[in-house]
Parts: sequence; C-alpha cells; structure tokens
Amino acid sequence: MKKKQKQIKRFIVYCEPCGFNKIVDEDSLNEFFINKTTSVSGGAPFIDIITKKTQKNKNLKRNIQVRCPKCGRGVTTKFVKEKSGDDEEKN
Ligand SMILES: [Zn+2]
Repeated sequence: MKKKQKQIKRFIVYCEPCGFNKIVDEDSLNEFFINKTTSVSGGAPFIDIITKKTQKNKNLKRNIQVRCPKCGRGVTTKFVKEKSGDDEEKN
C-alpha cells in the first residue's frame, strides 16, 4: 500500500505587523526568501561547496526567513507539517 506522492514542503509566511499571510511551497518560497536561518547557535549547518552536500545538523530547523512582499520586513516562516505518517526528521 504505497502512495506515490511527492512530498511538498509548505511554509506559512505570516507577517504580524502588516497582516500578510500566505502558505507557500518550498519552490515558491525560494522566489522571495532573503536568507535561510537554521538555528545559528550551536553550529549552523552548511553546504559543502566541494561535495555539494548539506552537512546535517541535529539542530536543523526549517525556519526560513523571508522578506514580506507587502511591507518588506523580515518574516520567519513556519514549517507546515504534512498529514502523513512519514516522519523523516527523526532525531
Ligand atoms: Zn509585512
């Protein structure tokens, strides 16, 4: 019983000051993100430019900061957990 379904990661972009609120998938998010903040304290994960591999960090969190298209503030996104039993990020 396997469902072939591409897992799309979705994020909520919510800007409190101006009320901008949108759910975007990962691809769309890339269009207007300003930087990916992944818990900087305690050693941020990084991409090895030689091997092109992302160094896994147990503190990695899917907090991506984007610029609010409406007011220009930096907004932290929330990762939307899909309703599947698949839990790939166990640690
Ligand atoms: Zn805003």
